[in-house]
This record gives sequence, structure tokens and C-alpha cells, in this order.
Amino acid sequence: MQNRMTPRLAVLSRALATLPLLATVLAPAANANPTAAEVNVYSARQEALIRPVLDDFTAKTGIKVNLVSAKADALLQRLKSEGRNTPADVLLTVDAGNLGAAKDAGLLHALKSDLVKKAVPAHYRDNDGLWTGLSLRARPVFYARDRVKPEQLSTYAALTGQPWKGKICVRSSDNIYNQSMVAAMISNEGEKKTEAWVKGLVGNFARPPKGGDRDQIKAVAAGQCDLAIANTYYYAEMLKSDDAAERAAAEKVGVFWPDQQGRGVHVNISGAGIVAHAKNAANARRLIEFLAGPEAQAWYADNNQEYPVRADVPVSDTLKSLGDYKADKVSMSKLGANNARAVKLMDRAGWR
Ligand code: FE
Repeated sequence: MQNRMTPRLAVLSRALATLPLLATVLAPAANANPTAAEVNVYSARQEALIRPVLDDFTAKTGIKVNLVSAKADALLQRLKSEGRNTPADVLLTVDAGNLGAAKDAGLLHALKSDLVKKAVPAHYRDNDGLWTGLSLRARPVFYARDRVKPEQLSTYAALTGQPWKGKICVRSSDNIYNQSMVAAMISNEGEKKTEAWVKGLVGNFARPPKGGDRDQIKAVAAGQCDLAIANTYYYAEMLKSDDAAERAAAEKVGVFWPDQQGRGVHVNISGAGIVAHAKNAANARRLIEFLAGPEAQAWYADNNQEYPVRADVPVSDTLKSLGDYKADKVSMSKLGANNARAVKLMDRAGWR
């Protein structure tokens, strides 16, 4: 009879039935199916800022995107503890410092995409090809329009001068944006010069660091300080805010692009990499390529108030109103590579 097992098969079948554990062990193999039409994303971006573009990817490719959103530190910790059992295929996060930390912890594997290489300038990608930048933000100086003339401003270095004693607001040194700014400076100027700068800057703080970037801009508007250092998208969002008080605060504050005769303003990226133990690596690559593509880049530029990483995609009208700038061309890879030195140096200089 066709459907009668031979005695030997029957024994094997009974043996397998008593091994539920084996079934559990084998289960992840189903996820390893390269044709599975899904991709799992661990994202440190605000869900509202990324979901629409992921939905667009699904509509165009039929690949379902499962999104887990959390803070960058928590996602890195989770990837470490999950190890090879992680369901994640893509890590999406802000700041090259965070991507560098993921790389150093062995959480990423090579992206290997000619499309991404063509779309994204080399200095916005990891020098070992483990992650790529997907959007750009600058970290310029913001000034009180009624108390500071832009002619009084020039470089980051000049912020340590006597005229700005007690006048500068910036958030705490445990924030990655400041760590990366200092890491870039270490790369450009060396550790000694950078440490002297950080000491000078701390000496000119208006108050012990508190709050986020937006709070520094608000503090300038409120007269608590004359200058602040903050990321461009916070200011652009304030200018476009539904909240009249936020709009009014932003309008009291101007943006100044430092170091335009020299290296240019400090910039940073948001970016992504394929997780080392990705089960859907091909879909992961496709998603990252999509995010580096012209449509997704245009969406980012319009909705997130970030600059595209591609030169062929225009910036939003709000960002356009801030004017053009020259950006520091330091490789984003240096931001992660110099992070530990930056943190120690800031600590020594008393940047709390
Ligand atoms: Fe931010």
C-alpha cells in the first residue's frame, strides 16, 4: 500500500514525534528562505518619519516590512543579546557614531551594493562597506537675532573666545551628536587642539547642559543664551511647527554656517546596514537600495527636514530658506572610530 510506512520509517517517524525540541531548532530555517517576501527592520527613527517610505517599498516590491522601533542604544543591546537568533535584517539609525558602534560590535555585515556606491558619496559610507548614510543633517551655530550680528561669527574655534563667555547653550556630552562633532574635530585637528577647544567651549557655557537640541534653540529665543549648537532639522521643524510659540521662538533665532572659509560645517548622517545574522539579507539590501533611491530620498528631504545624501535630489523649501553651505568632508567612518577618544576628552574637559 502506498501510504503505509515501512517498519523502519515508522520507527523514525515515532522518534521524530518525540523530539519537539528538534522542530523548534529547525524552525528558524524557514526564515532563512531567501525567497520569503519580508524584511525585519530595527529602527531608531521615529516611526512616523519612516513608516510611509517603508509602506511605499512594500507597495513597489511586495516585500513586507516588519518594523521594531526603539532607541539606538536599546537596539544595539538587543542585537548583541539576540546574537545569531535575531529576527532583524536591517539596522536603521541616526548618527554615524551609532553605526560605527554597531560595526565595532560585529553586528553588521558587508552591504555590497553597486547601486548604493553610485548613489551615496564615499565619505557618507563606512570605509569597510558595512553601512551607508541615507540622509544628512548639519550641526551649525544658532544665534539670537536681536543680540548677535552674523558678522560676529566665523568658526567653531572662535566660539571659545571671550565675547561668548556665559553665552553658549548646548546639550550634554552623553548625546551622540556632540560626541560625533568632537570625534570629527579630533580627526581634522588632532586630539590636543580639540581638547583645548572643548575646554574653551565649556568655559563659555551659559548653563550646565540640559534638554535636547530644540531646547537649546528655545533657550536662545528666551534670552538664556546668545548662541546654541544644534541639528538643522530641529530648527526647520520649529519654523514649520503647528505650535505658534515654537514658530515664534525659531523666528527669533538665525542659523550661521561656521567654517565656510575652511573645512565647512559639521554634518552627520542617518543610515543603515544589514544585520550580521540577517535571514533575509537579499531583501535587506533591496530595502537599503530603495532608501538610497531618488524617490525615497525626495520623500526624506520633504518630510523629515533632512538633506538628501544624493546630490541629484533637491532639498525642502524650508531647508532651502536656510541657505547653502559648505560641509566638512571628513569621512563619517571617523565619527565611530574616534568616539571613545571624544567621550574621554569631553569628560576631562568637564562637559557634563
Ligand atoms: Fe535628533
